[in-house]
Amino acid sequence: MKNKDLKVLCLILARGGSKRIPHKNIKFLGGKPLIAYTIECARKSKYINRIIVSTDSDAIANIAQCYGAEAPFRRPADISQSDSSELVAFMHALEWLKKKGGYMPDLIVKLFPTSPFRKVETVDKAIELLLKDPKADSLRSVCLCSEHPYKMWSIDKKANRLKSFIPLKNKPAQAHTFAYHLLPRAYIQNASIDVVKTPVIYKKKSITGTQIIPLVMDEFESFDLNTPLDFMVAQALMRERLKNQTNRQSLHDIIPENLEAYARYLSVHNNCIICSGKKHHLWAKFGSYKAVCCDNCGFIWIDPSLNRAGLEKYYQDYIGMRFKDAQKTRQRKAQYEIDRDFIQDFIRKGKVLDVGCSGGFFLDALNDKFEKRGLELDAESVNFARKNYAFGKNIDNISLERAPYPDGSFDLVVMRGVIEHLPDPVSALKKVSRLLKKGGYFFVAATPNAESFCAGLYREKWNQFHPIRHIFYFSAKTLSRLCLKEGLKLAAKDFPYLETPYADVEKDHQEVLQAIQMKQNNQEALMKRSRAFWGNMMNLVYQKAGK
Ligand SMILES: [Zn+2]
Repeated sequence: MKNKDLKVLCLILARGGSKRIPHKNIKFLGGKPLIAYTIECARKSKYINRIIVSTDSDAIANIAQCYGAEAPFRRPADISQSDSSELVAFMHALEWLKKKGGYMPDLIVKLFPTSPFRKVETVDKAIELLLKDPKADSLRSVCLCSEHPYKMWSIDKKANRLKSFIPLKNKPAQAHTFAYHLLPRAYIQNASIDVVKTPVIYKKKSITGTQIIPLVMDEFESFDLNTPLDFMVAQALMRERLKNQTNRQSLHDIIPENLEAYARYLSVHNNCIICSGKKHHLWAKFGSYKAVCCDNCGFIWIDPSLNRAGLEKYYQDYIGMRFKDAQKTRQRKAQYEIDRDFIQDFIRKGKVLDVGCSGGFFLDALNDKFEKRGLELDAESVNFARKNYAFGKNIDNISLERAPYPDGSFDLVVMRGVIEHLPDPVSALKKVSRLLKKGGYFFVAATPNAESFCAGLYREKWNQFHPIRHIFYFSAKTLSRLCLKEGLKLAAKDFPYLETPYADVEKDHQEVLQAIQMKQNNQEALMKRSRAFWGNMMNLVYQKAGK
């Protein structure tokens, strides 16, 4: 029988009413429900091609499905008791699968949801061992006993005496006094893996049969959670293991650049540009970089930030980086269209200036009734635009501050993912306001929203946090305060998420839930960099006062 034809069912029995730890199977451990470790392990197996969770609980079923298992039925209450036989649960699952889809597996791999440290290699090895042995009925995982049975006793209450648990005739005299290493090796089933050939269940009315192959697992992998104490130990083990992983990963993997190389250019300090407040507190830390938060108005910025020489060096080293990034994905194109539709509800024609226009992609997305101009500092991007678009000749390779256009030249000024990069956004806004006609629009698009839920939760692991590229972290409130000083009044705001190509609603929510849990458990070190989520990004439309 070839592996690909082999039907290998992973069966996970997970009752809702666990006695010693309430809701044990879905209790969080290291940021995930306990059962998730077992489902993820089964999903990685080379052989397992179906995973069924048999449970009487809707909560367990829902979570199991989130992690990629099937939970197509609820196990009836009368066979879901703490004393219910596993054989009955097996038969119930098999009969259900046979009746509802004519499915009958060749092998059943029973994985215990309480064994989170089990490795997928061990599961695959267990399956291979059983497949190779035609005479065997099943395989069962075991580990060395930590307490030897020769040293076990029962109590004769009547006589008030200890009695050897194993009859004396079955063990050497005085065996209870022997050192552990002198005793014969004894193994205990470790409640991790059972594999059985399906016919054994039907013919022998047993989930093991009599010919059982042993699979010895080590102590760590065997760790099985049954008591509140086990849970505490597992939390500690998990924290240790994950801490090592994150340490190895280091911050540089989160942002794949060597930002420390630029830390010597950190010298620019700012008071709050929104309220001029002088007091602030630490908001996030990333290597040598710090973000601070104004005590007075809550505005967030990198302080100290890179000086001009540092920024020039950084952008030189990464020349064309944004451009290549922009060019490579279709996702961005879809995002341009979302942003275009939003602004075109306000204005559909006239003179537009796109500040930091990259290769001209957003200008291209705007309708042709616009007379299009752009500013871009990256020469490679400018060349691309000039080659590919008719309006390319109108793209100037200079900064906004040096742009030579007369006041009141434009009906629309766009900054798409730009304002957070500028070392002096206040002067930039002054210039934007001057360049606009009265009644003209200023469109700030695809800019991070520092008031978003994820910004607060993730801080330096928020996917919009970058201590060199993103200097100032605005919200609709703070940016609007700044704009108002320049006569630009907020006309509309939007926080695109669901409709964007970056949203993966189920996964995004799952990860946020995990992050919340980690934060509550003081396990921030384990949090991954955040994904797309509600409110992360904002599109703001401002209108210049006057007519
Ligand atoms: Zn402030």
